[in-house]
Amino acid sequence: MRRIIIGNWKLNGSLADVAAYAAALQAAPTHADLGVCPPFPMLERFAAALAGTGIALGAQDCHARPSGAHTGDVSAILIKETGATHVILGHSERRSDHGETNADVAAKVSAALAAGLIPIVCVGETEAQRDAGEAEDLVRTQLRHSLPENFAGLIAYEPVWAIGTGRTPTEKEVTAMHAAIRAALVAQFPASGATFPILYGGSVKPGNAAGLLALPEVGGALVGGASLVAADFLAIAAAAPPD
Ligand code: PEP
Repeated sequence: MRRIIIGNWKLNGSLADVAAYAAALQAAPTHADLGVCPPFPMLERFAAALAGTGIALGAQDCHARPSGAHTGDVSAILIKETGATHVILGHSERRSDHGETNADVAAKVSAALAAGLIPIVCVGETEAQRDAGEAEDLVRTQLRHSLPENFAGLIAYEPVWAIGTGRTPTEKEVTAMHAAIRAALVAQFPASGATFPILYGGSVKPGNAAGLLALPEVGGALVGGASLVAADFLAIAAAAPPD
């Protein structure tokens, strides 16, 4: 299985960074599939720079509606027009900063699918939920209510307490959660649930990527901070096991 390594730039970067970053990604030999999710205003420039490379390009959110009186929001249709192929939805920072519920996420996933975008749907527990032994139930609930019936795309397991903290779950914890997610997906989508890649996200770095990416049911990584420097991002991709 080729691992999928997606960078989430969050509220970082500049238009001036795009050309060099895109060139670095294309120049690096890798046996993993790469993708980058920059802020909206960079999408069109990235799309031009990455055209024909097979490197995926995604946004970090979309609105559930195709148009209307929603100041500051961006539709999935417009994201698709930029040349993007993917969209991250339900990231914990969207859930906490903007109060997004599972139902909101499901509506956005439906909009993304209708626009022809591939959703990358994030799920994950807080530290308190893990300490209380609720992590797997919480993630199962997120999956049940964040994924519409016609879902097709990627899942990213991102424990909230591991994002940007330098802390990661143990390999045993990641293995157990990814197995639980796979079982939930198969139960929810009997015909296709076995095929959706499940990425791990949360403080993936060049130094821990090999161990995480070799775990069963870890189909790749969603990388925040370490995706901002192309060399670090590529080092993570290089740490993926061969097909
Ligand atoms: C993320 O927010 O998607 C993420 C994984 O961040 P970081 O790699 O910085 O923990």
